[in-house]
Amino acid sequence: MEPNHTPRIEINLAKIGHNVKQLVELYGKKGIEIMGVTKAVCGDPVVAEVLMNKGILMLADSRITNIQRMQNAKIKAQFVLLRTPALSEANLVVKYADISMNTELSVINELSIAATKNKSIHKIILMVEMGDLREGIMPKDLEEVIQEILTLKGIQLVGIGANFACFGGVKPSKASMDDLSVLASGIEEKFSISLTCVTGGNSANYNWFESVTDTGKINNLRIGESIYLGCETLDREAIPELFTDAFTLVAEVIESKIKPSKPYGEIGQDAFGNHPKFEDRGQMKRAIVSIGSQDVHVSGLTPKLEIEILGSSSDHTLIDAKNVDLKVGDEVKFNVSYGALLSLMTSPYVSKKYIGEIRLVSKPIPLTTNS
Ligand SMILES: *Cc1c(COP(=O)(O)O)cnc(C)c1O
Repeated sequence: MEPNHTPRIEINLAKIGHNVKQLVELYGKKGIEIMGVTKAVCGDPVVAEVLMNKGILMLADSRITNIQRMQNAKIKAQFVLLRTPALSEANLVVKYADISMNTELSVINELSIAATKNKSIHKIILMVEMGDLREGIMPKDLEEVIQEILTLKGIQLVGIGANFACFGGVKPSKASMDDLSVLASGIEEKFSISLTCVTGGNSANYNWFESVTDTGKINNLRIGESIYLGCETLDREAIPELFTDAFTLVAEVIESKIKPSKPYGEIGQDAFGNHPKFEDRGQMKRAIVSIGSQDVHVSGLTPKLEIEILGSSSDHTLIDAKNVDLKVGDEVKFNVSYGALLSLMTSPYVSKKYIGEIRLVSKPIPLTTNS
């Protein structure tokens, strides 16, 4: 494996480590513990290790496969499954996750059966709907659900939580955080139990956190993007003192020519069924880099040079090189958005190169039919 295979994503472990340490300190000042969310890096054990070394105790992922990956790599953490388990994966969830987030009684019932079979106790956090309209139990139904859960063997209710700014773009306001606190206190009182984890949201909760002095019963947030990209996620503003460039995509120029800027000939559909329109900007320095829509959410890439991305097809990304001299074989670097990061980390065609604490290059996963 060439150490500088392209395309590759360079993962700066020192910058990620710095961001984690800062965020643990920042949120800790007002009594909030953070779960390190690993889904954007597909549960990469090297990154998970950095999170653990910098003070994170709980790692959270939406996919049980990613949690399995970290468990198999002997990462020692409390593992939390963020996405409501599918009925069909209850046994895996009980085996690999310490805690799961839930919204459906039928699933919790299945987890109870699996945990009892496994002679273990599976912890759950109930997600409450607070307006973003992704997962969550409607607040009016919460008590009835809890009543039922408290009769189940092998299940321990350890908390409640809510999610924001994922589907509906709904902000975690002071009012909704206060509502969640009130719900938590109400449950503790009514059922004489203690909820050790009241988890109020994700990287979108930064502005709320900064604006309040007292976070109420909220003692946990689930943080991914702020760790990896150094920003909050309502306006994608950088958080002071954090690195926003811990991840860099490196792609390689495979063609560089002066060509017209406007396609010529009879025009039909492009690779994805669109009817593209182009402005005539005269002759243009055009370059192609060998990465495409099959590997990355191209609209989430920002070139580090003064060049412009014109578009992409499955395997090619087209660049207006402007005043930059791009030669065949040159490497071109890009900053990545969250969407681009997700796709790059998931693509088997993109190698992962760690910079900072450990120097390693992972091989692209070979494409075979027998596993
Ligand atoms: C992805 C996810 C998070 C983390 O979100 P970030 O914006 O990356 O901080 C938190 N909670 C749930 C339920 C998620 O699915």
